[in-house]
This record gives sequence, structure tokens and C-alpha cells, in this order.
Amino acid sequence: MEPENVVTHNIWLRDHCRCPKCFHAVTKQRIFNTFDIPRDIAPMSVNAKPSGLEVVWPDKVSHVSFYPWTWLQENSYDPPLNQHKPYNEKILWGSKIQKSPPTITYEEVMAEDQQGLYKWLLNIHKFGFSFVSGVPATPEATEELAKKIGFIRETQYGKFWDFTADLAKGDTAYTTLALGAHTDNTYFSDPCGLQLFHLLSHTDGTGGATLLVDGFYAASILKELHPEAHHLLSTIPVPAHAAGEQDALYTPSPQTGYPVLGHNTVTGELRQVRWNNDDRSVMKDLSADVVEKWYDAIRQWNKTITSSDSEYWVQLQPGTAVVIDNHRVMHGRSAFEGKRRMCGAYIGMDEYKSKLAVLSERFNPDKVVSQARKGAGDETVVNGRSIWNCAL
Ligand SMILES: [Zn+2]
Repeated sequence: MEPENVVTHNIWLRDHCRCPKCFHAVTKQRIFNTFDIPRDIAPMSVNAKPSGLEVVWPDKVSHVSFYPWTWLQENSYDPPLNQHKPYNEKILWGSKIQKSPPTITYEEVMAEDQQGLYKWLLNIHKFGFSFVSGVPATPEATEELAKKIGFIRETQYGKFWDFTADLAKGDTAYTTLALGAHTDNTYFSDPCGLQLFHLLSHTDGTGGATLLVDGFYAASILKELHPEAHHLLSTIPVPAHAAGEQDALYTPSPQTGYPVLGHNTVTGELRQVRWNNDDRSVMKDLSADVVEKWYDAIRQWNKTITSSDSEYWVQLQPGTAVVIDNHRVMHGRSAFEGKRRMCGAYIGMDEYKSKLAVLSERFNPDKVVSQARKGAGDETVVNGRSIWNCAL
């Protein structure tokens, strides 16, 4: 694609001027009034320079804007070019992932240079989970590991949790019962993004294998084989609740809930899986003609996520922590006997994505940023961030 072939509207171009009068290089915020732009603004002159497009606009004194070619291409809407893909593609997986599950060492993740941390977050981005091996089997080391990604998200279960099966909280997680594959916090408007957990000890008994299921993989199978079920799971909202504690009663906003498969309304891509059949509330908003079809659809979904092709079972040992993208990968466990001590934490999706974006900017900058760093000179990079960063 020749950059000259990218078409933009004059008002769009003027609105995206990143000269120091229009865009604050430090705060990366717009500092001029979009609504002062005449509706019919037209350039006085347009000059194709080797590194980008220079546009002179009429103003009291003429106003010069410059747009790098790479930036125009990256942000083109006409034609829409390959956008919104700053990282490698996601890799969907089934039970065969057990041959080489994504793993990184504690030492790598904790290293000063943050390369290991970047690798860890890329694992989570690609696979929706990653093990960390060689973690000291203490709550302190595990908490430190979680904080490498971002703030710990406090919930009704506490901030950093460290628990045994004593029903300290009114939730099945605090028992020795088996738990089917589910995502956490279906009763929140914004379910926690990442979940990190670490088995610290298991004495006087056996069982308690960990189950992981890639919800995106299961959704792709369902879409292929049972498109009607996939459609119902993508459109029918499911209400949910957390009500086991006397002084808390959580339901999502809106209370009608969210579909099991949430899609990006702009790109159509699958964005989030929400599935916990135990926490589901009364299905009172179903229309009568859909009730049986919807039950057939979740039956099909349940069959898909419990098939031996989807289920990845692993017996965790003290020293190996796992972090899971709770918007994609479902987790569960088999029943167990004896005394297990688990610790872990939730981390917000936004904190994780911010950290991944910062480390990508550093270790794998996009075309626009790397070109801006070499080409236009350092004045476009202020406070370590280019004004042409594609996230802006
Ligand atoms: Zn300007």
C-alpha cells in the first residue's frame, strides 16, 4: 500500500494535528478546540515529504501540520488497513498444550531488565495463561510476583488471599469440592482481568488437580459446529450473583447481565468469556420461544468445554504459580482430600494491558514509533514516549 493512497477527510486531518500548539507533547493530550475548525476547512497547500505529509492550513498565521507516512498508514480508515494489532496473534489451544505449556521462570520474571516480565505478559496475551516455575512457596514471594504486573485488585475475598478449605468465605472455592471450568466474577460488571494463584502446600491427602480450558478455543469449535448455539451464547444476557456473604450482594450492572460470549462491537472479534453455571441467577428475561433453544445451546457449550479435547489437567506443585486471563481461560479443579493452602490475587485487566503496552513500546516498538525515533528526531519522543505512538 502506497501511503499516498490513503484518503482522509480534511477535518479529520486537521483534528489530528500534533504540532506543539495542538498537542501537548508531555501529557499527550489535545490542547486546541476541535470545534474552532471550520466545517469546510481546506488546506492551503499539501507537500509530500520523504518522511511524511506536510499540510499548511489557513489561520490568522498559517498553521503547518506534519503527519508521518507510517502513522497515516497505521491509522488509515479509507481503506481500513491492518489496525489494532500491536502484538502477535492469539494462539488457541486444546488439551495438547500439556506437551509444552507456556512457562517462564521466577528468576526471569523478577530480573531488573524486565525482558522476562515482557515474555511472561506475551505468554498471557498469546495463550491466556502462563506458569511461573521456581517461585519460593511463600505468600510474600507470590505477592511480589503478582505486583510485577500491576496493582492487586481488592475484592470481597480480600486483597492478596491466602486460604485453606475452611469455608472462611461463603463460596465453593473455600471447600474441598470439585469445581467445573468457569471464569470468576461473572457477577461483576467488570470481572477481574488476571488471576494468579499458587499452591503453597498440600498435606495428608491427594487430588485437587487444576483444570484449564481455553474459552476462545471452545467458542471457535462451537461456532464451527453449532452456529445457532454460538449465536445464542453471543446474544442472550445471563444474570449472575455472589450472595454467600451476609454483608455483600453482588450482581452486574445492568442486572440483566452479559452474554457468555462477549464480542467487540466494532471488529466483531470475541472479547470476553463469562461462564460460571453455579453463579447464574434466574433466567427471567428469556423470551418463551428461546427457552429450550438456549438450554440446548448451553448444553452444547458444556459438552464442548468438558470434552477431552478441550480440557487441560495439571497437578500443580508448590513452587509453580499460574496466571490466567479470566476473560478468556476457564479454570477448575478436581475434588481433594487433606489440607491445601492456596494463595493468590486478582489483577485488573487495564493494569495488565498497560504494562504490556509499556514493555512492547520498549522491546518491540511499532513501525511508527521506531521510525519516529530514527527519522524525525527526538523531539517527537517526550518523556520516553513518541507523540506518534499508535495507542494515542
Ligand atoms: Zn497544529
